[in-house]
Amino acid sequence: MEKHAEFSLVSLKKYIRTQKIGSNVICLKTIDSTNSEAKRRSLEEAEGTVFLSEQQTAGRGRLGREWASPDGKGIWMSVLLKPAISPDKIPQLTTVAAAAVSLALESIDTVFDTMLRIKWPNDILLGAKKAGGILTEMQMCGDIVQAVVIGIGLNVSLKENDFPHQLRQQATSLLLETGVSYDRVIIIAQIINFLESLYQEFLTEGDLGRSLAICRKRSAVIGRKVQLLHQGNKEEVEVLDLGCQGELVVKHADGTRSSIISGEISIRME
Ligand code: ADP
Repeated sequence: MEKHAEFSLVSLKKYIRTQKIGSNVICLKTIDSTNSEAKRRSLEEAEGTVFLSEQQTAGRGRLGREWASPDGKGIWMSVLLKPAISPDKIPQLTTVAAAAVSLALESIDTVFDTMLRIKWPNDILLGAKKAGGILTEMQMCGDIVQAVVIGIGLNVSLKENDFPHQLRQQATSLLLETGVSYDRVIIIAQIINFLESLYQEFLTEGDLGRSLAICRKRSAVIGRKVQLLHQGNKEEVEVLDLGCQGELVVKHADGTRSSIISGEISIRME
């Protein structure tokens, strides 16, 4: 059995420079899904609580897809937030989180400046392969947002055979792309640090501002032709931009334009 260093709360606290996010960190050895756990505990835990697990036995992606989360090899974390904003703004938090992950990795190693791309709306790519993903979920009480959980999965030190067979062509890790075994604790701390500042900006300014600029600059899809997948239908479109709410602005084959909100849509690149 390969040994790995487990999360150290003491060293994590050393690197965190925030007021709210990460003031409470819950470290788990194993859990079905950190997002599910955060949702189960959303009423009793404070805003900013971070859930970390060494492994997830039923990690989830969007639309009920599975997220492979082997023991000790990645960052499987969820952040519990309680923003007083309307439910239609919640998907924008995926853009905020993608920007935070991007800044965190770039702050740790400049190789990520050129390597890291964000595939709208929620995938973190290194080169052409997926190294991470974000899953934003919310809990409502009537029309009011009660809690939001931002899940972040990042493949840190997975080697090829740590991935299920069917993922090996499309998935990668920080280790596979750079040859470096990064300290998960420092990456987690930097994600928390950048997430707090971008989240606060989003709340006070009421728009995506800096997060949008980061996601535009790092976009894997702007200027490219992609396939839009929606309930079994496929359509080729050209991606023109990200709109000011993080939506995808596309041009259809007939020349018309439209804006797409992440919801049920997936995209594939040629
Ligand atoms: P999509 O990118 O297809 O819209 P999601 O963003 O929800 O979907 O991510 C889930 C998908 O990511 C899974 O269906 C699988 O193909 C892939 N996947 C699962 N686990 C991992 C992982 N650890 N690293 C990279 N890709 C993964």
